[in-house]
Amino acid sequence: MDLTLTPEELKFRDSLRAWLKANVAPPWTRGTNEPADKKAYLQYLSAWQRKLFDGGWAGIAWPAQYGGRGAAPIEQAIFQEELALAGAPERLGVIGEGLVGPTIIALGTEAQKQRYLRPMLTGEEIWCQGFSEPNAGSDLAALNTKAVLDGDYYVVNGQKIWTSFAHIADQCLLVVRTDSTVAKHKGLTCLLVDMKSPGLSVRPLRMMSGDASFNEMFFTNLRVPVANVLGKVNEGWGVALTALGNERVSISTGRYMVLKRELDQLLERSRETRRNGGPLTRDPLIRQKLAQAHVELEVFRLNTLRAVTAPFKGGAPGPEGSLLKICWSETNQRVVHCALEVLGLPAQLWDCDEGRWAFNYLRARGNSIEGGTSEIQRNIVAQRVLGLPRSY
Ligand SMILES: Cc1cc2nc3c(=O)[nH]c(=O)nc-3n(C[C@H](O)[C@H](O)[C@H](O)COP(=O)(O)OP(=O)(O)OC[C@H]3O[C@@H](n4cnc5c(N)ncnc54)[C@H](O)[C@@H]3O)c2cc1C
Repeated sequence: MDLTLTPEELKFRDSLRAWLKANVAPPWTRGTNEPADKKAYLQYLSAWQRKLFDGGWAGIAWPAQYGGRGAAPIEQAIFQEELALAGAPERLGVIGEGLVGPTIIALGTEAQKQRYLRPMLTGEEIWCQGFSEPNAGSDLAALNTKAVLDGDYYVVNGQKIWTSFAHIADQCLLVVRTDSTVAKHKGLTCLLVDMKSPGLSVRPLRMMSGDASFNEMFFTNLRVPVANVLGKVNEGWGVALTALGNERVSISTGRYMVLKRELDQLLERSRETRRNGGPLTRDPLIRQKLAQAHVELEVFRLNTLRAVTAPFKGGAPGPEGSLLKICWSETNQRVVHCALEVLGLPAQLWDCDEGRWAFNYLRARGNSIEGGTSEIQRNIVAQRVLGLPRSY
């Protein structure tokens, strides 16, 4: 594995760095909890996405003919790291750009590519991912939302849950059951659904962090044109796996820099804080914890480099993405846990550092569940990377 950037990659990084220096949107003046004026916050994030697109910095690894930059996956990873390093705003289009877009590029019709890809990059259309149901999360293939063919439409009835961004999304990648008479993996189909269609309703769910960024979705005789099937009818399991493979890598790459910034802030706070007559950083136990967090972050950085250089050379992200997903989610949880241990009880308060530590700690619990739980990722690694048999 060669860890040094090539001259082209360095050129890419430097020109992006210069662009970000000149263009990063001013920080949204808000606490880390939910912004009070959600509409204004959305407009702020949409304007930022548009600015990225206009500057040529959206869809880094997507083909230029669909509005992308046509660069390599390693440049996509550099892009995500540089955004985090520059303190750029969060991105609304993470599900579209990270998960649905690459799946449409791989498996969609030309008409679907022309229709859906560009508005994902400009920020005109926000996407959500309608996979999980109340009785189908880890065992996704057990899902029960049904679609029945009626002329040129599928008529959908059922329910999804935990759908991130559904309350603000324009489009959804939905997995439904189109054949109940075959093995559960074989009767699924993926649909591209307009969220404004009659028969679709969304109900937000509040997380323990206070955030309400995921939802329940209900479908009552929702009509979806046959032309909106992504991939083939009854072959939706393969489509869903392609989307999930992309998700595991896209939610993990770029996170190193986010965590590094977090650890740097923690180090700064530790240096400033005095306890037992001296700076916190002289306490032997605190030093152990901070050093351990640094070690884990470096392991995560190397795993990220491996994920973007090795499997991508052979095409789509493979099961190795599960390694990265475990590494990111669990390292994040340990770093925020370390912050609460090091800074002590005040870090649990919403008025300490604008609630950053309390919010991050509570939100991080979901990291080892979203995109597939850590147990499921370990099963994938055991079976598909190590070649072990299926569990009981
Ligand atoms: C913040 C957040 C955002 C999310 N966003 C979305 C989204 O946008 N779209 C979407 O469709 N879903 C989303 N999800 C849902 C997520 O994908 C599911 O919660 C996840 O797949 C687990 O499913 P479940 O909740 O039904 O738990 P279950 O599958 O019921 O699992 C319960 C427990 O049993 C364990 N378990 C289950 N099966 C096995 C097994 N075979 N071996 C070992 N252990 C096992 C699990 O690891 C878990 O600990 C989100 C979840 C969170 C927390």
